Amino acid sequence: MKIDGGCHCGYITYEATVDAARVGICHCTDCQTLSGSAFRTGVLAQKDEFRVLSGKPKIYVKTAQSGTRRAQAFCPECGTHVYAYAADDPQAVSIRTGTARQRDQLVPSAQIWCRSAQPWVMNLDRMKKFPDQPVS
Ligand SMILES: [Zn+2]
Ligand SMILES: [Zn+2]
Repeated sequence: MKIDGGCHCGYITYEATVDAARVGICHCTDCQTLSGSAFRTGVLAQKDEFRVLSGKPKIYVKTAQSGTRRAQAFCPECGTHVYAYAADDPQAVSIRTGTARQRDQLVPSAQIWCRSAQPWVMNLDRMKKFPDQPVS
């Protein structure tokens, strides 16, 4: 499936071909911190099927407990986290699905690092729901 997207301010744009059946949620604590949220959602694209069309991302390399080095690509202007890849031998790019215009079609099929998932995240249905920002 072809997708395209970019960061919030529009400085970074990209296009990619992804396998829409391989969308995953990661509940690891690194993803919680890096996203500023409860989890991250990503979809894989092969390296040669991902192309940055505009902008030059800032790269932050994080080293996991296992020693794996992951390059995290952010917009230097607005801070949107757009994608990540193995720092040493990138074969694939994990695109943050919230940056894709087609995000509504990228439905996760698996969750990893569930042992560090925030306990409330597995049951969002019980929360009050508003169609937009409620007036307080
Ligand atoms: Zn931006
Ligand atoms: Zn993670």
